[in-house]
Amino acid sequence: MNANADPNASLNPQMVFCRACGRQVHISATSCPGCGARQIAAGESPRLLLPAFLLCLVFGYLGAHRYYAGKIGTGILMLLTAGGLGIWVLIDLIMLLSGTFTDIEGRRLTRWL
Ligand SMILES: [Zn+2]
Repeated sequence: MNANADPNASLNPQMVFCRACGRQVHISATSCPGCGARQIAAGESPRLLLPAFLLCLVFGYLGAHRYYAGKIGTGILMLLTAGGLGIWVLIDLIMLLSGTFTDIEGRRLTRWL
């Protein structure tokens, strides 16, 4: 059966909607077959690395990049400890650069732009 003609397709957990055109695409698809827009893979954060990296670089001691990632709790903790006296900021910068930094839902930030 053609997945596009299946009336129950919207209930299929393996299908997601393209952010660009709204067409249903398989969750493992890296780009939409309809419009070619890049899809976010499971476990990949919709948040971008570039703003997180710049926030960490400039306002890391305030925990700004952690607010951006939705990590309000540790962001406040970072603010109170001045970024763990800079050490925590340095660790986060390395994690951002190595692509291991995660958002509040545990999804890795993998895209720069
Ligand atoms: Zn599309």
